[in-house]
This record gives sequence, structure tokens and C-alpha cells, in this order.
Amino acid sequence: MDVRFESLDLPLYSPGNYILIAGPCSAETEDQVLKTAKELHEGGVKIFRASLWKPRTRPGCFEGVGAMGLPWLNRVKEEYGMLTATEVANGLHVAESIEAGIDILWIGARTTSNPFLVEDIAHTIAKYDCQPVVLVKNPINPDIDLWAGSIERLSSAGVKRIGAIHRGFSTYADSLYRNPPHWQIPIELMRRYPTLPMLGDPSHITGKRALVPEVCRQSLDMHYAGLIVESHCNPDDAWSDAAQQMTPEELLKVTSKLKLSRLAT
Ligand code: PEP
Ligand code: MN
Repeated sequence: MDVRFESLDLPLYSPGNYILIAGPCSAETEDQVLKTAKELHEGGVKIFRASLWKPRTRPGCFEGVGAMGLPWLNRVKEEYGMLTATEVANGLHVAESIEAGIDILWIGARTTSNPFLVEDIAHTIAKYDCQPVVLVKNPINPDIDLWAGSIERLSSAGVKRIGAIHRGFSTYADSLYRNPPHWQIPIELMRRYPTLPMLGDPSHITGKRALVPEVCRQSLDMHYAGLIVESHCNPDDAWSDAAQQMTPEELLKVTSKLKLSRLAT
């Protein structure tokens, strides 16, 4: 299918000149959001991520603060001038996020696997004149067509600024990584769609903060347009994905040494 990708038109992180989205796995409290955002902003990060709606594997885990966190993300915009990004899993999340002024929406790995939800998200976004950027994570299973299909559904519905996020693929086997990267799959997607901006998500690929720096570097070496990385002001006490989150200081030590390998974003 012929898909045209418009430039994401996102601010680049300097000195490396790549897209860098950073912030906690989940928005937990207003203080945690603002403290983490302040430290990232002071280190030059221009785009802040935090999930409000969390699709957890087992019931009984923290499932996110929901729409209550939207004003917290707005404070991040107002106080630090950062763009904001959050995960959406249905049309209602999309409408609430767009109406609150969120700049970037991403579709999580579990949602990319569901064509009905992707259609709901796509058609809801397309109703708005001022559209957010939409980033599509790979599905949890290693199925390139499901990933490409979600991108095609968004494009056919009229969504303009689309990118992809490589977060690795789940496995039942013992593995160094939480979600082994299977680099050949995102590479094949970029071959099919040479102008598709691809971001690496080393936090969800590795599941361990010690491995995050190496996968950040590999992603940029693979000519990705940038990174989305989890960072929390107090990672060991995080309410989700504690083992893979880094403090802003730890993250910035890594990101400030990396450079973009590709020219177009
Ligand atoms: C996340 O970004 O925190 C998340 C839940 O990601 P994924 O959909 O990749 O599991
Ligand atoms: Mn997470």
C-alpha cells in the first residue's frame, strides 16, 4: 500500500540532533511528573512522556491515573515549554488527550495488535483539524504485517504525521532482553517505508537499566530518527517498570554522547 509520511516536525535534542522523548513509564503523582520533567528540561530534553492509561498484563497492578493526569502534563508544557506525549488505547483516550492539548500520542504494543482499536483511534484523530503526531509501537508478537497494517489504517483514515516505535517482541524463551529486538523486523519496515520515522525504545526492549545505553546507541547506529526512553526521578520506587527506568541524570549522561546517524527526520 502506498503511504505518504509527512515530517513529524518535532524539535530535536541537541547536541545529538535526534528526536528524544523521555519521562516516566507512568504518571504517578503531580510532584513526580513535575520533578522528573524539570530535571529532563534542564538537561535539554524537549519532549516529555508519561502514560496515563496503563494496559497491565495482570489485574491488581497500578493501571494509571487516567484523565486526572492531563492537567499535570499541561503544567509540564506551561512551566518547561516541553511537548507532551502519552499512550492511547481507544478513541476516548484520543479525544480526551487532544482536547487537553497533548502533542504526541503513541499506540502501545498491545493495542497495535487489535485492528478494531486502531481503527477507532485513527478515525477519532482524523476528526480533528489540529492533529497530534501519532507513533505506533510494534505489536507484542513479531508480526511485521500487523505493525504495517496499523500504520496503513492510520494513514487511510487521514492521519498525517505518523512514526513508528521499535519496543521489541515478547518471548517465552529465556532471554537477556525483556523483549528481544529482532532488528530485522524494524529494518524490513523501514525498507518498505523508507520515509517512515523510526524511534527506538531501549527501555522496553531491555527491561534493565544497565542495558539501556547500549540499545540507545544501536538504535541510532541503525539510522533511527530518535529514541523514547523511560526516566523517573526515583526509579527504584516507580509504580511500573521500575527495573528499566533511569534517573534523568543517568539518562542524560548517555544521550548527550550520542549522535543521529541519519539526515532526514
Ligand atoms: C510504555 O511505553 O510504558 C508501555 C507500556 O509500552 P509497551 O506498549 O511497549 O509495552
Ligand atoms: Mn513502561
